[in-house]
Amino acid sequence: MSKILVIGAGGVGSVAVHKMAMNAEIFSEIHLASRTVAKCEAIAESVKQRTGREVATYAIDADDVAATTALIRQIGPQLVVNLALPYQDLNIMDACLAAGVNYLDTANYEPRDQAHFEYSWQWAYQERFKAAGLMALLGSGFDPGVTSVMATWLKKHKLDTIRSLDILDCNGGDHGQHFATNFNPEINIREVTAPARHFENGKWIETPALSTKQQFSFEGVGPKTMYLMYHEELESLAKHLPEIERIRFWMTFGEAYITHLTVLQNVGMTRIDPVMYEGREIIPLQFLKAVLPEPSSLGSTTKGKTNIGDIATGYKDGEEHTFYIYQICDHEVAFAETGNQAVSYTTGVPAMIGAALMLTGAWAGPDGEGGVFNMEQFDPDPFMAMLGEQGLPWQVKELAGPLEF
Ligand code: NDP
Repeated sequence: MSKILVIGAGGVGSVAVHKMAMNAEIFSEIHLASRTVAKCEAIAESVKQRTGREVATYAIDADDVAATTALIRQIGPQLVVNLALPYQDLNIMDACLAAGVNYLDTANYEPRDQAHFEYSWQWAYQERFKAAGLMALLGSGFDPGVTSVMATWLKKHKLDTIRSLDILDCNGGDHGQHFATNFNPEINIREVTAPARHFENGKWIETPALSTKQQFSFEGVGPKTMYLMYHEELESLAKHLPEIERIRFWMTFGEAYITHLTVLQNVGMTRIDPVMYEGREIIPLQFLKAVLPEPSSLGSTTKGKTNIGDIATGYKDGEEHTFYIYQICDHEVAFAETGNQAVSYTTGVPAMIGAALMLTGAWAGPDGEGGVFNMEQFDPDPFMAMLGEQGLPWQVKELAGPLEF
């Protein structure tokens, strides 16, 4: 029985809070805070209608560490689940340390003025969390999150060592809009327009954004073009599974998405440096976000499926094998359950599972010690078991051989 505080009332926050409400034996009291309290109230209303449970709501600017610390102290939760934006990660970690409460998020910290993705800022909190006897779990979404745990599940059950790992993220959903992103547009576009990077033989190899592509046929979706990208779990997996020789991340994009994005980039609308407009500074990407559809508004019109998973090649008893582990999620089925499309659903469910494993003690630091942890540092079994039970059933199959590209 435990009390939880979720910060962030977007699509991911909405799914996580609905799923927490559906698991009352673990989440006995749910508190939801965000910048716009009306969004928290709308989620609380939906949770009440769907599950009969109450969610307490608050307005908070999580960039204000003192105010966030005061709110955490006032509520007294066992865990703070940060589902706001990556910009807030360090501030919420500081507030958790000040208030003496455990922490979880789904995306690594990013400074606002650089599209720069790395764990160094958050890993630097290791000693402070350890000294305080508190746990911080980083990246408990789908990717990072499920894809990280899928890699350790394959290593535990199917392979002795992993030589190469490819993470394949396909969203085959159609939202009926000319151009929209499936999660926060600012964060999504920063990620997609950043140079691609993958890890090979101990080195990071950088290539221009969206310059390497492959065709792949995804079960439940069909053939799609996927692009090599950088994604934050590559960094933590390369650290925690040091035997991996090559690790890459691929994401599918349709032709229309790429064409719109290219035009927006060419005209400067994806810039994150300030420009003067009518006597005041604006950030073009933030203005673009304001005119694009809110991802949470796409749920009712999105049809189709997502298929995200890992392909790993390695040795078992001296012989080479390749396994594909993946999860298929249907946008309309996801929407029927919590009122959110599959991208929010596939992130919010693992956030709830990570929180459940922390609250029940199934995932804890070695000898109960605190510290900052990534998903692949824990036993994959309880997580993968809950994933299937909580709406994201997954499959694993052996492939005839390694990927040909
Ligand atoms: P949204 O933009 O829909 O929601 C973000 C929420 O955070 C909004 O309610 C917003 O408030 C709130 N917020 C923003 N700034 C602050 C602040 N300073 N203080 C308090 N609240 C704030 O995003 P999503 O729900 O789509 O994504 C949430 C997180 O999940 C992001 O960090 C994203 O990167 C991550 N993510 C992770 C994935 C994974 O697989 N690991 C996949 C998809 C997303 P307001 O409404 O006022 O703007």
